Amino acid sequence: MPEINAHNFREQIKELSGEDVGKCTAGCPVAVDMDYVPNQVMQLIRMNEKDCLLKANTFWFCAACQTCSARCPEDIDIAKIMNTLRRLAADDTINVQAKKIPKLNREFLESIRMFGRVYELGMVMKYNLMTGQPLKDVSLAPALFSKGKIGLLPHRVKGLDQVKKIIKEGKKF
Ligand code: SF4
Repeated sequence: MPEINAHNFREQIKELSGEDVGKCTAGCPVAVDMDYVPNQVMQLIRMNEKDCLLKANTFWFCAACQTCSARCPEDIDIAKIMNTLRRLAADDTINVQAKKIPKLNREFLESIRMFGRVYELGMVMKYNLMTGQPLKDVSLAPALFSKGKIGLLPHRVKGLDQVKKIIKEGKKF
């Protein structure tokens, strides 16, 4: 048997027990950036580690791609749990930063609804005002304008009606 180390531990467990404990995490495209990867999240929930979990960045990084849910040997809809954790974190007092994220999310979608694409300047200005930090990152503006990274005025895409229709349909879910 090869030497067991941190890199092959999972494979060794799988070989010996026939159980793959990390199928969900192995397929997650953003696991590398998460404080806790999907299988650790399931374990923390089982251990009732609420505070630890709600402070983590994991569910904010989750792209809802459903890979973990499709691969879970226990048929757990992990992506749905990630979404539930997002909602809990937004309502909880434990993570002050988390309260700002739904606001940014809302402004992002509103920008898409109005223009069919993100109007960065308008979105950031509204978000900064709503979160009581009107001058946040203002020093970055000149460089962003001069390099053409953000525009002064919004641009509407062609087929904006179709975009609005998609957003309207999406709200039903
Ligand atoms: S749904 Fe989220 S947690 Fe699951 S694999 Fe996709 S990004 Fe990772």
